[in-house]
Amino acid sequence: MLKSQLRHILPYKPGKRIEDVQQELGLTHVEKLASNENPFGSSPRVQAAITNVINGLSYYPDGYATALREALSDHLGVQPEQLIFGNGTDELIHLFSRAMLYPGKNAVMATPTFPNYKRNALIEGAEAREVPLKDGRHDLEGMLREVDENTGLIWICNPNNPTGVYVTADEFSAFMARVPEQVIVVVDEAYREYVTAADFPETLQMIDQYPNLIITRTFSKAYGLAGLRIGYGIAQDALIHQLEPAREPFNVSSVAQAAALAALSDQAFIARTVEENNKGKQQYYAFCEEAGLAYYPTEGNFILIEFGISGDRIFDYLQRRGYIVRSGVQLGVPTAVRITIGSAEQNSGVIRCLKEFLNDETS
Ligand SMILES: *Cc1c(COP(=O)(O)O)cnc(C)c1O
Repeated sequence: MLKSQLRHILPYKPGKRIEDVQQELGLTHVEKLASNENPFGSSPRVQAAITNVINGLSYYPDGYATALREALSDHLGVQPEQLIFGNGTDELIHLFSRAMLYPGKNAVMATPTFPNYKRNALIEGAEAREVPLKDGRHDLEGMLREVDENTGLIWICNPNNPTGVYVTADEFSAFMARVPEQVIVVVDEAYREYVTAADFPETLQMIDQYPNLIITRTFSKAYGLAGLRIGYGIAQDALIHQLEPAREPFNVSSVAQAAALAALSDQAFIARTVEENNKGKQQYYAFCEEAGLAYYPTEGNFILIEFGISGDRIFDYLQRRGYIVRSGVQLGVPTAVRITIGSAEQNSGVIRCLKEFLNDETS
């Protein structure tokens, strides 16, 4: 009775819940560093903003997200009509796939990368053309070779989850110049606020040039609002206009809109978050170099470390000590582990456990 492709698609497997690990292992204190959430929560302005909208919960939300749209267009320097909001970026990935893919079409993407691009392509009955990363980086040349007259979408995850590695401005410009204009390119910039590399692409400045370019960003990561589900897309207004009928009319709740507006107003919070993340990156880099472990320099708030043994073993070891991370086995990098960069204290805790693990292994 269902679409036949649903028999062959695995559901998304989220990071483990703190409560489950506490119960299973009888631990009183468990830290979750598995889903790249902000270890510092969100701006204190968010709670006040949410309290303010509670009285209006009997009303539907503003389907156009007017106040947030205006503030965000100011913040980004784009036109309000160039924005589309989603119930998380996840919903936008669904929406673009639904709008652009159907049986006979294909979507080109890297592997390993964020799994929802593939899942949504398959649900629409389209083909997912996965091009292996090279040294953790998108193989843009290889991806271009996969593009044909049936390609509806190309996904570029920048920086890439789970490797943290990025496509540079020069690479991306050269790539865009070669993509046929009827193929939509979506650049998923879920970690854009964390980026420090000087040669990271300024994609916002490319929107006017490319009618087939969509950028997505989210309030789930640096802004710390993952639980509320709100992300957005940026593209030329003509493309946004065409996508709008496919968007559910009240897809972003009034609570999420108010919270995002408040979070956006507190850029000092974002600056502190990024500063702490940069220090955390240094903690992990220093540890990896000292321990002789291979890792990818990251532009996100996570780090992929190569252990040369099943990532599940590291995952189990850390879990028993109260840290939930992500085994690479689930991410397509079976001998690695992806760890969300946390507070200085969380990072030291994880690193202490990893040192113990390495000691136990070699003694
Ligand atoms: C976390 C993440 C998202 C999901 O964002 P939501 O806005 O919470 O749906 C999208 N893309 C990538 C690459 C991510 O890592």
